[in-house]
Amino acid sequence: MSSDEYITGVVLQTRDYKESDRIVYVYSQEYGKVEVLVRGARKIISKLAPLVAEPFALVRLKVVKGKAYYHCIGGEVQERFYNIGKRYSTMTSIAELFNKINAIVKKYKSDAKIFSLLITFLQKANTPSQEKITILIPAFLIKFLAFLGYRPEIRMCVVCRSKELETDLFFDFKKGGIVCKKHGSDNEEKKEISSSVLYILQQLLYKKLDFLVQQKFSKKDLRLAVDIINQFYQWQLE
Ligand SMILES: [Zn+2]
Repeated sequence: MSSDEYITGVVLQTRDYKESDRIVYVYSQEYGKVEVLVRGARKIISKLAPLVAEPFALVRLKVVKGKAYYHCIGGEVQERFYNIGKRYSTMTSIAELFNKINAIVKKYKSDAKIFSLLITFLQKANTPSQEKITILIPAFLIKFLAFLGYRPEIRMCVVCRSKELETDLFFDFKKGGIVCKKHGSDNEEKKEISSSVLYILQQLLYKKLDFLVQQKFSKKDLRLAVDIINQFYQWQLE
């Protein structure tokens, strides 16, 4: 009996290994994050190289389980997202996003919701619109963190459960969400947040990507919301 098997997934990050090999971190449908060794991936003549050379493609890899890694012995690219590679700034921001995911997601924990979010994200991000990308990236990150178990409380004060969130609000990174006027004061672990930025955070977390790409958010408020999501991510990472 052959021990070959197939995994279907998206390459999150790659790193060079030995002289010409590459280790790729794949978020797979079957096992969640796995490490796959692709021998000769940095050689031009390699048959395996094209499989992992394209950033952000959905690949189906034929693998054999080794001691430390899965070893890739073949496969095919199943879906390409051409537009992502066309603009340098889009490519680098998505690469940065995927590095973040790779850093926080544990190996061998498959999650159908995360896999499906990842594919939907790539399909929506396959757009020439820079404006849509700037909404999709933070939306993906906040949803992803929530699926991973780090859901920020942004519908009520974390301390008193009050839903009266109008003015003098803070995002408390230590407590993992919004605190009301009574329970917040400015210090290093908290950041002041306006109700319009809070509204954007709620939209990004709770609305579907399809809906979100149709929205027009204030650039300034969106940027502030992105800062909070990134800082929230950093807190979970540490
Ligand atoms: Zn409160």
